[in-house]
Amino acid sequence: MINELINKAMGIISEYCISDCDADCCKNGKTLKELGVKLNPCKYLINDRCKIYNERPTTCKNYPIRLDNVGVIINKCRVVEGGKIDEIIIKIKELNYKIYM
Ligand code: SF4
Ligand code: SF4
Repeated sequence: MINELINKAMGIISEYCISDCDADCCKNGKTLKELGVKLNPCKYLINDRCKIYNERPTTCKNYPIRLDNVGVIINKCRVVEGGKIDEIIIKIKELNYKIYM
């Protein structure tokens, strides 16, 4: 159930990554920050597309929402801040998962 909700959130977010956001996270080093990698923009971002998309690091695949052993980690990317996954966040809370934003 929790994985379904996270996948649903990812699906909603990905609709806006290119059309509305122009890959803000990859341009501004947010995606790989947790790995201690400072690439602003990421060297794999070409014309707002990830050129290693299918082989991108796990941290990129899990951005901006992922399940951790402490709860659900949600980075405040543009789509999240725009409220597009608010309903899913409520459902995650109803399942008694802690949310860290
Ligand atoms: S910041 Fe969020 S909406 Fe923008 S490209 Fe990254 S994950 Fe997608
Ligand atoms: S590897 Fe791809 S998904 Fe990850 S930060 Fe770079 S461009 Fe973005």
